[in-house]
Amino acid sequence: MPDYLHHLEFGTFITPSTEPATTPVALAQLSEKLGFDLVTFQDHPYQPAHLDAWTLLTWVAAQTQRIRVSGNVLNVPLRPPAVLARAAVSLDRLSGGRFDLALGAGGFWDAIEAMGGRRLAPGQAVQALEEAIDVIRGIWDADNRAPLQVDGEFHRVRGAKRGPAAAHDIPIWIGAYKPRMQRLVGRKADGWLPSLSYLKPGDLAAGNAMIDEAAIGAGRDPREIRRILNLFGRFDTRTTGQLQGPVDHWLDVLVPLAVQDGIGTFVLGSDDPRTLQTFAEEVIPALRTAVAAERGPTHNAGKVRSVTVRGKRREGIDYDALPAGLADAAIEPGDSRYSRVRSTYLRGGSPGLVLQVESVDQVGLALAFARRQNVPLAVRSGGHGISGRSTNDGGIVIDLSRMNGIEVLDEATRRVRIGPGARWMDVASALAPHGWALSSGDYGGVGVGGLATAGGIGWLVRQHGLTIDHLRAVEIVLADGTLARATATENSDLFWAVRGAGANFGIVTSFEFEVDEVGRVGWAHLVLDASDTAGFLQRWGQAQESAPRDLTSFLIMGRPRPGQPQVATVLAMVDSEDPETIVSRLQPLADAGPLLDQSVTVTTYAEVMANASSAGHNGQGEPAARSGLINHITPAFADAVARMIDSGAVYFFQIRAVGAAVADVDPADTAYANRSANFSVTALGADAEKLNRVWDELHSHFDGLYLSFDTDLRAARLADAFPPATMAKLSRIKSRLDPDNVFRDNFNLIREQALTG
Ligand SMILES: Cc1cc2nc3c(=O)[nH]c(=O)nc-3n(C[C@H](O)[C@H](O)[C@H](O)COP(=O)(O)OP(=O)(O)OC[C@H]3O[C@@H](n4cnc5c(N)ncnc54)[C@H](O)[C@@H]3O)c2cc1C
Repeated sequence: MPDYLHHLEFGTFITPSTEPATTPVALAQLSEKLGFDLVTFQDHPYQPAHLDAWTLLTWVAAQTQRIRVSGNVLNVPLRPPAVLARAAVSLDRLSGGRFDLALGAGGFWDAIEAMGGRRLAPGQAVQALEEAIDVIRGIWDADNRAPLQVDGEFHRVRGAKRGPAAAHDIPIWIGAYKPRMQRLVGRKADGWLPSLSYLKPGDLAAGNAMIDEAAIGAGRDPREIRRILNLFGRFDTRTTGQLQGPVDHWLDVLVPLAVQDGIGTFVLGSDDPRTLQTFAEEVIPALRTAVAAERGPTHNAGKVRSVTVRGKRREGIDYDALPAGLADAAIEPGDSRYSRVRSTYLRGGSPGLVLQVESVDQVGLALAFARRQNVPLAVRSGGHGISGRSTNDGGIVIDLSRMNGIEVLDEATRRVRIGPGARWMDVASALAPHGWALSSGDYGGVGVGGLATAGGIGWLVRQHGLTIDHLRAVEIVLADGTLARATATENSDLFWAVRGAGANFGIVTSFEFEVDEVGRVGWAHLVLDASDTAGFLQRWGQAQESAPRDLTSFLIMGRPRPGQPQVATVLAMVDSEDPETIVSRLQPLADAGPLLDQSVTVTTYAEVMANASSAGHNGQGEPAARSGLINHITPAFADAVARMIDSGAVYFFQIRAVGAAVADVDPADTAYANRSANFSVTALGADAEKLNRVWDELHSHFDGLYLSFDTDLRAARLADAFPPATMAKLSRIKSRLDPDNVFRDNFNLIREQALTG
């Protein structure tokens, strides 16, 4: 008899009783507390004593944090499959990937007919369920742009829109007892879900054989199909029936079911809290131990992927060698979640494997695994990299987005620990209730990991300095897999390097910052006529440079539009809630050119940063961006910029105020050394070569660049980013900590080896 070697899971099967309706919810919460993986409910929509299963599943998902939810099983004849598919995805996304779809072909046909459903003969019910599965999988195929057509006898879908993608690969399980339905499980399902009490001795073996044969016939691996079993019983001091007796008796029944009949998930049907507790505390650990002993140490209980998914694997990655500790973190090109993680904000990508890690241990495992493969490696936190390439083609991505905790370590010193995957809008909103803010960037969707290892130029920069100037400690997994803590006194060279060139040295798994007290702020949006582009740039530059530190503004211009005057948008923050101060700071900016439009509000930093959505990234192609740091907007520079904008080679041009607090820090104190600049200048173009040509003409005006905004891979950029002494020190640290240049798909210190992936 087979053991499909699935990782053992445990669920509960709770009566969806209406009397009172809170009981099934409380039992679901108890199931979560007791450590069960799954809570399930029967679905008999014609049964007045039961809550509607779908509504209950949604409610329970909202009232729990970790446990997965599923029908047991959902009644397909009463639920149109296209609608069911979208409901499933919705609940899966809302619950953070906690929904599993268990389907039933129907029974109790009088009741189904009474509710308006169609009575089906046994053979018809199998066919109807198969068609329903085709519809559901078709709707879930979010990457497929063609509208869905299913021309079945029982289910017809004519051009339905597909997607969105689920949060995880929702498995489809089928409750099945008869050979035709079991063959359908083998052909199309991810799990077989019978109840032990309906089975005679030998039925499990026969069902498994039927399923396995059908699976092989369909070109599948039988291990793709999880075997799930509903159990009903009670604990007693004496043995009186199959699952009626002491814990040892239960184990005598359950161990063979796991190792001989291949049951991977046991679902306990009981509404008795004590039974659930005894099962969780006494049966589950003992069963795990006994099954592990029977299986021996060598098996890998990772997820078994279908032949179709395996067919999309990329060369150079030994997928089957992935450590078990990363099984849940792995997203492959054939997985449904892949479309949400393949690309970043600005780049299209097709990595061979995305490892969505959740702990420092997993980071270490992922890095060690990636180093053994001969493919590019990308590190991703928020996925907004411009110079840093956090996706690739055929390589591995270590995705830290789930390591996104934000925790106050010490209220008195305003010490905060933040995970690399947190985004700046989440950081701002978590700090706001304390009356605090951390100088970050201008866009809430950007991740902490990429920005806090490079610099961090945002709305508070002149008053509060760069993000890295608030950094007090990092924990970082180095190229050799060791975890280092770096502070001003511990691994101080590394701490120096992380603040400005961090991406080259490892994977930062946590950042500790000292944040500032920041109250309400003035926030302005000015639109000015910039037809006299050079004159306007100088006037704005002069006004900004001579302003007190509490004013930081960014100027944005685009391609000239035929027949229309050139306009400039100036976005400005004043770190004060006093209206008179705000107006006095803004007036000189507004005087830089004819004012076409304006809005000024008093708000919070968190509200300004809440400017991004949580949707997945869908970048295309490769961005072309250039950066320069400059001390003053001189007439010659302003003229050159005006010519560049007129050329049309740049579709986005921006100058940010820097200086002030940034220049308070000694250039030798961090790897971000070009601190005297009062302005950071950036341009984006559609064509890298054209952009380089116009930008190179400006080069003589610059005193460095900000690496976060530059995609130019020419070696000369290193000298622009890092003055000689800084570069020499960085090179020494790099050759000590990352001699193999493992961390290279960023603004790389060893340019000739840089990969573009
Ligand atoms: C719309 C937009 C707005 C921006 N606004 C600003 C701004 O206002 N101010 C500013 O300073 N910058 C800004 N940037 C630039 C931004 O700071 C960088 O692109 C930064 O790298 C993005 O961080 P991320 O974590 O989102 O990016 P990711 O794409 O996840 O990472 C980018 C690179 O950073 C490195 N990296 C990421 N995580 C880690 C880690 N945990 N440890 C070590 N290295 C890591 C990797 O090399 C990676 O390739 C902006 C970018 C965009 C796209």
